Amino acid sequence: MALINENYLKLKAGYLFPEIARRVKAFTEANPDAAKRLIRCGIGDVTEALPEAVRYAMHEAVDEMGKRESFHGYGPEQGYDFLRQAIAKNDFQARGLNIEADEIFVSDGSKCDTGNILDIFGSGNKIAITDPVYPVYVDTNVMNGNTGDADENGAYGGLVYLKCTPENNFVADIPKEKVDLVYLCYPNNPTGAVATRAQLEAWVKYCLANDTTLLYDAAYEAFIRDPELPRSIYEIEGARECAIEFRSFSKNGGFTGVRCAFVVIPKTLMGRKKDGSKHPLHPLWSRRHSTKFNGASYIVQRGAEALYTDEGKAQVKELIEHYMGNAALLVEACKKAGLPVYGGVNAPYVWVGCPSGLSSWQMFDKMLNEANVVITPGSGFGSAGEGWFRISAFNSRANVEEVCRRIAALK
Ligand SMILES: *Cc1c(COP(=O)(O)O)cnc(C)c1O
Repeated sequence: MALINENYLKLKAGYLFPEIARRVKAFTEANPDAAKRLIRCGIGDVTEALPEAVRYAMHEAVDEMGKRESFHGYGPEQGYDFLRQAIAKNDFQARGLNIEADEIFVSDGSKCDTGNILDIFGSGNKIAITDPVYPVYVDTNVMNGNTGDADENGAYGGLVYLKCTPENNFVADIPKEKVDLVYLCYPNNPTGAVATRAQLEAWVKYCLANDTTLLYDAAYEAFIRDPELPRSIYEIEGARECAIEFRSFSKNGGFTGVRCAFVVIPKTLMGRKKDGSKHPLHPLWSRRHSTKFNGASYIVQRGAEALYTDEGKAQVKELIEHYMGNAALLVEACKKAGLPVYGGVNAPYVWVGCPSGLSSWQMFDKMLNEANVVITPGSGFGSAGEGWFRISAFNSRANVEEVCRRIAALK
């Protein structure tokens, strides 16, 4: 019998979203009438239709595939040049950032990228992760054997947890100790927090001083409306020497079901060998990507390219306006209800303090039973999330307005 990867056994059972699904199912079975008015503001999935520019481009690509002369089989693993060029030009060079097309690796999602990136790092690294956090960063480190067991609070041995609380506006403080890898995500899922330029400058300075590699998840950069806030880590001087950036078309282009994302690995970014000598990370990821991945679909990449056309940009802007309009309504409703509210200004998530000492799951049950609204309990994102909950702005306007009325009616 084959030996199994026992690291998987360290993973906490009852992962957040299955547990939400279990409770919602039990509720709908017990209350079939109330279930009809259920509104889901839980999972961070987009709700509005795929932009027209994307659909046209994908239709065209499908027709190309239907003719022998323009059929596409396997494409380049790193992504088609037309998409890598469009990304480099629009997301970086047009903003004065020095990122080249061949530093961009196209994939089928940031969830996979943020997990798979560990393939190119050795074992024994000291790894820092924020609390609360997008669970993928933690769980993939557990699977890779980079942690010890979980304690009673669900914190894994060996990881450095960076607490994000109202005291630091939910932006991680620079650690006192030296770490080798750090994950940051701004605008943040789940807290909706954004890092200022000064905060990111401090992080890059720390990383350069300590030879730390920064894994920067910018999946929500399109939701930044304040022009003073950095949208890419490469807006910070020195980031080319210390940071990898993850981007996705999931939240800006509504690609959660289409699947397309990319990683930026500057050629100037180095890792370290056991003997202390430096080695660039770019060729390692290139090798990893072409060995374990066979490229994102041609049709999908044509769709993603269309997001960078004038029509595509206008349609993305409209989607963002829609979701951020929702977020503003939710922020206002929670404030009126007298709850502590963060996020929802440059991010599609509203992070709310539970009333009168309720735990996150108690608040989840209260919202489910009294308001028939599904939210996400903050404790599911880490122990520092206890006492908080997340409301997603990904919804129709009518649903959000109804959620606001129900929040106002809560006892
Ligand atoms: C949604 C999300 C992503 C994007 O994931 P995809 O796999 O590209 O859909 C990445 N990071 C965070 C924190 C997210 O919430």
